[in-house]
Amino acid sequence: MSFAKAGNLGFPRMGGQRELKFALESYWSGKSGESSLLTIAQGLRANHWRLQRDAGIETPPSNDFSLYDHVLDMAATLGAVPARFMHTGGPVTHQTYFAMARGAQNAKAMEMTKWFDTNYHYVVPEFEPGMRYQLLSTKAVADYLEAKALGIETRPVLLGPASFVLLGKPTDASVARGQVLQAILPLYEELLSRLQVVGAEWVQIDEPCLCLDLDHDAEEIFREAYEALYRGSGLPKLMLTTYFGELGANLDLALSLGTAGVHIDLVRAPQQLTALLAKAPRELYLSLGLVDGRNVWRTDLGKAVALLESATMVLGVDQIQVAPSCSLLHAPFDLDAERKLDTSVRSWMAFAKQKLAEVALLAHAINGRVVIQNQLDENALLIASRKSSPLIHEQEVERRVRAIDGTMLRRRNPYPVRREQQARELSLPLFPTTTIGSFPQTAEVRKTRAAFRNGKIDQQAYDTFVEKETERCIRFQERIGIDVLVHGEFERNDMVEYFGEQLHGFVFSENGWVQSYGSRCVKPPIIYGDVSRPHPMTVRWSTYAQSLSKLPVKGMLTGPVTILQWSFVRDDQPRSQTCQQIALAIRDEVADLEAAGIKVIQIDEPAIREGLPLRRTDWPEYLNWSIQAFRLASSGVRDNTQIHTHMCYSEFNDIIDSIVEMDADVISIECSRSRMELLDAFHRVRYPNGIGPGVYDIHSPRIPEDGEIKDLLNKALEVLTPQQLWVNPDCGLKTRGWKEVELALTNMVETAAGLRTAIEAQT
Ligand code: GLN
Ligand code: ZN
Repeated sequence: MSFAKAGNLGFPRMGGQRELKFALESYWSGKSGESSLLTIAQGLRANHWRLQRDAGIETPPSNDFSLYDHVLDMAATLGAVPARFMHTGGPVTHQTYFAMARGAQNAKAMEMTKWFDTNYHYVVPEFEPGMRYQLLSTKAVADYLEAKALGIETRPVLLGPASFVLLGKPTDASVARGQVLQAILPLYEELLSRLQVVGAEWVQIDEPCLCLDLDHDAEEIFREAYEALYRGSGLPKLMLTTYFGELGANLDLALSLGTAGVHIDLVRAPQQLTALLAKAPRELYLSLGLVDGRNVWRTDLGKAVALLESATMVLGVDQIQVAPSCSLLHAPFDLDAERKLDTSVRSWMAFAKQKLAEVALLAHAINGRVVIQNQLDENALLIASRKSSPLIHEQEVERRVRAIDGTMLRRRNPYPVRREQQARELSLPLFPTTTIGSFPQTAEVRKTRAAFRNGKIDQQAYDTFVEKETERCIRFQERIGIDVLVHGEFERNDMVEYFGEQLHGFVFSENGWVQSYGSRCVKPPIIYGDVSRPHPMTVRWSTYAQSLSKLPVKGMLTGPVTILQWSFVRDDQPRSQTCQQIALAIRDEVADLEAAGIKVIQIDEPAIREGLPLRRTDWPEYLNWSIQAFRLASSGVRDNTQIHTHMCYSEFNDIIDSIVEMDADVISIECSRSRMELLDAFHRVRYPNGIGPGVYDIHSPRIPEDGEIKDLLNKALEVLTPQQLWVNPDCGLKTRGWKEVELALTNMVETAAGLRTAIEAQT
């Protein structure tokens, strides 16, 4: 008899109670030693292997666990330790490993960046001239043997050589990626052969870069990598593992690499199965990613079985593995730990543990186990109940979405007209100063919010506290001479959660944590149904703050794209539609703020850029609906109401046209770290609206020196007109202390004033 297998690509590392997070933080702070950290990590691995095996995964992955990040693990394995960490040879110690991740006294941390389009961040390998690559660690072997000692046969996971080289970056133009590849291939070969010697039959070799647009050089990296590996003999079978999209134009390349197995993501790209089956060699072992590894919803097993059957019609069942679409690293751990979720909503959900059960069930189904039918039927009922549930559908919301028309997506008049009206309304000086929204969230603010949430203080005591903080913030801004004030956001825990908690269509888990980077986890809100706004969300605090001052106080909102991007999103309708619903809710809030006398309203959209699809061909569609959503949220106001937006980055070159399309009256962006160079894009398209290029880096406790801000502003004036220029920090100030904020903002205001006088004297 031959059977399809149930497989997995990776499991969340933190543990059900985030044990790893707490162990790491305790170790870093010196409260506990290395051995206690390692014992906890080992315990987690053992638990997770057993849990996977009990769920029906025959050969769970090993080496998917990491103390910080799997890309960093690979760098440490291959000896890619930058010189500043002074590694003198031998295995990389934990001290050096964590220094690479987090920095040390005299060595700044390696850069981190987003892992494809997830909210996980990896440590970017650095390729330095003269770097000596050598196999410094055999963690993959050790982990495999650790599982074996527990009686569990695993499939080791390695980040593949091509993706490793493509995801890292040469620190100098003299270093070519091809050379790095040549240097590390023998090390991969050695590692693979050691895995074979200890008994690993298969190795999962992750090459997610195959789901990106590859240029000729990148394709060559892939060809060279796998040609070389296949010249080696006595290696385990390789499962070439791709995820987060479709192979598309890289399909032929992927198949030409000659691996024994291939994994494809059929959640993101179900259409690629047909193309792959048409070209797959007869003996190919195929792993089908049928269960969404990146979301919290139950799988529609009926649909998955249909895909599975189309594969088994071409390849034998014994050549098929059922798996999640990608590593379950991106899903929360266990739905069983949730006690407070609405029971219907909960019945539609699956976290990592439940997803493994689905994988096993699908494998059983295709293997013809009759008993499975009940479970498939039960799944079909749940999926159907979700489709028709009144919890999900709000007729009024769906009607409003259908009724959206072009006039709702445009301000009444073009920017030059609005500009004049706003100037009359606000009478701001040249180079108006403002901030991005939040002021220091001191320990006292956080403690008081926690006390309120735990019922230790009542609503009135909490409100009084927030009023006091807000007033202090307003008085402070007035005292140092800021022109457009903010209320300080003391009532907010998080810029998405705050809104999600007040909107219909959202639920919050108690334990639905996912790793963001290192020990940092986030608990994204879950959007399960139509989104609507039962009551105003920010009017109370904005009007309170405005009542304290004659100067304009900005209303502060999070934009629809950012709310979408930082949540788990329902999978039963296009993301664009969910985004429109959120935009309508924000639009109503904007209208209420305006009606309540707020003259400047900022709609933050820090996540627009990170929402960009992995493939260029998919960009226009995304940019179209996301920009429309921003416009829908922001365009309902009068001409004399000023709309601001904020983004925490400044790589605008390739999306500048979309930024222009947003048509915000003022945009504030991150710019100080790149020394204003990134303003060029705005200059190139002659961006006409207001711009506040951040004049100091709020991510660092350093106080900018007097001359520094002035230099930056002068640089900005080389490409912007004086009438366009706003003066503000890079981002919100919530992570900073009051002392720093006071010094830095005072410098900022004084510099703006000095520049103003200088310019006015000239004209
Ligand atoms: N208004 C928010 C704040 O100041 C913006 C945060 C952000 O850009 N991520 O905190
Ligand atoms: Zn920001």
